[in-house]
Amino acid sequence: MKLLEHEAKAILARYRVPVPGGQVVSADDAPKLPVVLKAQVPVGGRGKAGGIRLVTGRDEYTEAMRDISQLSIGGHVPSSIYAEESLGIARELYLSLVINRDLGAVELLAHPLGGVDIEEQDEAQLYRQPVTRETVNSMAQSLADHLDIPSQYLALGDLVENLYRCFTEQDATLLEINPLALTDDGVLVAADCKMELDDAAAYRHPEWDFSQKAADANFVTLSPSGTVATMANGAGLAMATVDAVVSAGHSPANFLDIGGAATVDSVSESFRRMSEFTNVQTVIVNIFGGIVRCDTVAEAIIASKDALPPRIKLAVRLSGNRANEADAILSEHGITHHSSLEAILTEIAA
Ligand code: GDP
Ligand code: MN
Repeated sequence: MKLLEHEAKAILARYRVPVPGGQVVSADDAPKLPVVLKAQVPVGGRGKAGGIRLVTGRDEYTEAMRDISQLSIGGHVPSSIYAEESLGIARELYLSLVINRDLGAVELLAHPLGGVDIEEQDEAQLYRQPVTRETVNSMAQSLADHLDIPSQYLALGDLVENLYRCFTEQDATLLEINPLALTDDGVLVAADCKMELDDAAAYRHPEWDFSQKAADANFVTLSPSGTVATMANGAGLAMATVDAVVSAGHSPANFLDIGGAATVDSVSESFRRMSEFTNVQTVIVNIFGGIVRCDTVAEAIIASKDALPPRIKLAVRLSGNRANEADAILSEHGITHHSSLEAILTEIAA
């Protein structure tokens, strides 16, 4: 589960990792200026997409709030906008903790040149070191030397130690600070944070309450910018449906196996999640009724279809147990019941 930046930073602050002061704002708010407005989306690359704006005046604030709210970044419309005190940044560094599965260890990565072009930086300068609770602080001096901030080693030592504690206690799988800013006053501050938490650990964190819910193992996002969303029953049929969408030249947004539980609640929730993908034009429902009854699914579809915005077309194929009854229910509500998946794919290609 990926947290939004402001959610991640609230956690960092609890672990005494220095973060800039900030608040989620709306267009009517009047935060103290200057301020940096930051689109809250669960993906990176916001700076390059226009999702980070330094604002000094009141009119500029209104304009930037409007511009940012209309962006789509990697297929995500900002769910909120976070306003932060602007930092005078002298240098941008990179720091992260990840799980290295080959080593079976938490690994610390650091680079002296952080910021929006981190992918283009020289890999030879990347610091990589497995860390444990015992060793994390003792590497402070070598890390500070590597980042070319030798006199900051005490602050850096505290920072990585707190970050490590946060990573393990919160069951994170990724904790990335990019940039770790060295301010003009010589203070280290986490200017950005990406945090991913382990969905499988949700059971021991009843307090987790984030914008993105712990993944439903049956609903997997494949591409947030995909154009076709799919729902099928059974993992095999769900995978075959995704494959058929790809073969027909479309880009699938998700994989979804609704299993045997096609209730109004589960279908509505699935439709709601699909409509969050801003490029989706078609939702394909592909059900083979065995134990699941097609008429039950059809009724759940009818009761849920308002969860889809008008821009999204619904294409349904139900076959097997009680398909004729399902057909009658769908026709009554003006939904075309397609004879096969091929028929749907041919129609959306046209
Ligand atoms: P990302 O593009 O999604 O990784 O978003 P970041 O939060 O990392 O912001 C991108 C870039 O905006 C940073 O690398 C900084 O150069 C710049 N930036 C972000 N916040 C501030 C700030 O408070 N002050 C200044 N001067 N630059 C900032
Ligand atoms: Mn960043």
